[in-house]
Amino acid sequence: MKKWRCSVCGFVYDGEQAPESCPKCGAPKDKFAEIAQDAATLIERSRKTNQLHMELLTQLQRVLETAEAGIQDNLDPPCVKLFEYARGQAYTIQQMIKAELAGHMGKGKWG
Ligand SMILES: [Zn+2]
Repeated sequence: MKKWRCSVCGFVYDGEQAPESCPKCGAPKDKFAEIAQDAATLIERSRKTNQLHMELLTQLQRVLETAEAGIQDNLDPPCVKLFEYARGQAYTIQQMIKAELAGHMGKGKWG
């Protein structure tokens, strides 16, 4: 499917023709430019992966919150140490995912 990008705000629209106005910023149709086929294919191909990254971010947030609760519960030092480890690893993976997603945006694997 053809894709169109709003030159004002970057909104990507899927359709045979550009929309009458941008759903995000309200810019008129003539502010949309068709995205080249290879770039459109890259966006299409990346959507699933980006969605999986975002789901992982959400799940890791639950790990962070659970680990924090475990630290507060503070049953004994080995438990706290394990919860702290889990919190640290979840945080690190979250930051890695964010860096990866930022890279995707920079390379046009987003939209
Ligand atoms: Zn726009």
